[in-house]
Amino acid sequence: MLEDDIATAIQNAVYRRFEDQVDFTAQLVGFPSTRGNEATAQDFMADAMAARGLTVDRWKLDIDDFKHLPGFSPVSIDYDNSYNVVGAWRPETPKGKSLILNGHIDVVPEGPLDMWDSSPYEARRDGDRLYGRGAGDMKAGLVSCLFAYDAVVEAGYRPAANVFVQSVIEEECTGNGALACLARGYRADAAIIPEPSGDTLFNAQTGTIWQQITVKGHPVHASRATEGFNAIKAAYVLIQALEELEAKWNAEKDQHKHHCGHHHPINFNIGKIAGGDWPASVPAWCTFDLRAAIFADDDIQARARELEDCIREAAAKDPHMSNRPPDIVYQGFMAEGFALEDMENAAEPVSLLGNCHQAVYGEALKRSVITGTTDARFFGLYANTPGLVYGPRSVDVHGFNEWVDLESVRKSTQAIALFMANWCGLEKI
Ligand SMILES: [Zn+2]
Repeated sequence: MLEDDIATAIQNAVYRRFEDQVDFTAQLVGFPSTRGNEATAQDFMADAMAARGLTVDRWKLDIDDFKHLPGFSPVSIDYDNSYNVVGAWRPETPKGKSLILNGHIDVVPEGPLDMWDSSPYEARRDGDRLYGRGAGDMKAGLVSCLFAYDAVVEAGYRPAANVFVQSVIEEECTGNGALACLARGYRADAAIIPEPSGDTLFNAQTGTIWQQITVKGHPVHASRATEGFNAIKAAYVLIQALEELEAKWNAEKDQHKHHCGHHHPINFNIGKIAGGDWPASVPAWCTFDLRAAIFADDDIQARARELEDCIREAAAKDPHMSNRPPDIVYQGFMAEGFALEDMENAAEPVSLLGNCHQAVYGEALKRSVITGTTDARFFGLYANTPGLVYGPRSVDVHGFNEWVDLESVRKSTQAIALFMANWCGLEKI
C-alpha cells in the first residue's frame, strides 16, 4: 500500500475539490442524454478530459466494427449521432498495472414529468442529496472517475501506468458502447465501473434478454367484436404464459450458485406496450417489450429459445394465434450473465479495493449480487479483465426523483483514487 502521507494527500485532494465535483455532476445531469441524444454530453466530457491533459478519443459507433464480436446486442436504430469518448493518460515509460475507469453517459427516459418534484434535467441539491435523472445512474460515478484522477495529480503525482477514462453510450439498452471500446483495442489489467452499487462490490450479475413481441389481430367494427380477434387481449394470454415461465426459472435458483440466496433473482418486465388504432375498432395489432433476466451461469441462446418456445406454445393453443403466430424480434440486450467471483485474476484487484474502501469508510467492503446487468461483463467475459462494479449509493434509479448520496460519492471517489494510485503506481510530477 501507499505511504500514509501520500494516501492522506490524495484523500484530502478529493475533499478539497468536492464542491467542484458536485457542480460538474450537476452540469452533466443537465444534458438529457437519453438514447440517441448523448452527443452534447459526450462533448462536455471530451472537453473535461482535454482540460486535464488526457488524450481524447471521440468516435462514432459503427456497427460493422463490432457486430461480429461476442456480446453484441442487435439494434434497430442507427448510430448516426452516437459517440463514445475515451480520455487516456499514458506515461512515457509505463511501470505499474493499467486501469480502465468506465461509466455510461446514457440515461433512461424520465417518464411523466408531473411525477417529478422538480425537473429531471435540472439537478437539485438538498443537503447530501443530488436529484436528477442520471444523477445516480450513473453520472455521479462517471464524474468520479475524472475527479479521482484529479486527486492523484493534485497530490503531486501521475499514474505510472496507462489509465483510460471511458464515457460510453448504450449501457441501458445493449452494451454496444462498451463493446465498441473493446473493438477499438482498449485493454487494461483491471476495470472499475462506478455504477450506483451502494458502496458495495458486485460479485455477480444476471444477464438480460430483450424481445419485442407483436400479436396480429383481426379488426372488425366493435359492434361485431365476437367476429374479430382482439390483439390486445391476446397479448394478455402471452404475458400470462411468460409470468409462469418467470416463476419456473425462479424455482430453479438453487441450481445457480450466485443467485440461490436471493428471494427473486429472475425478473421479467413488460416495459412497454402499444396496440390498436381506434376505440370502436377491434385492435389489429399489439406490440409489447419484454425484458427477461437470466442467471449468471446460463447459456443465453438456450434461454432465448425457452422464451420463444413459451410464447409460441401459448399462441399455438389459441385458434387465431395458431394460424397467425406472433412475431418475435430481438432489438436490444442479448447480455450474458457475469460473475466477478469466478475470475481467478480478480483476487488481487478485489483485495486492493477492499483495502482502499476500508481506509476511507473505516469498515470492510461488502459484496453483493445484483438482479440486473452492467457493462462489467464485457471486461470479464470477453477481455479477461476483472470488471469491478463499485460506486455510490443512489435511490430510485429508473424511477422518478432519482437521487445520489453525495457523501457516498465523495467516499467512493476517494477509494477509487487510492485504488488508482496503488494499482498503477505513481510518478512524481
Ligand atoms: Zn447504470
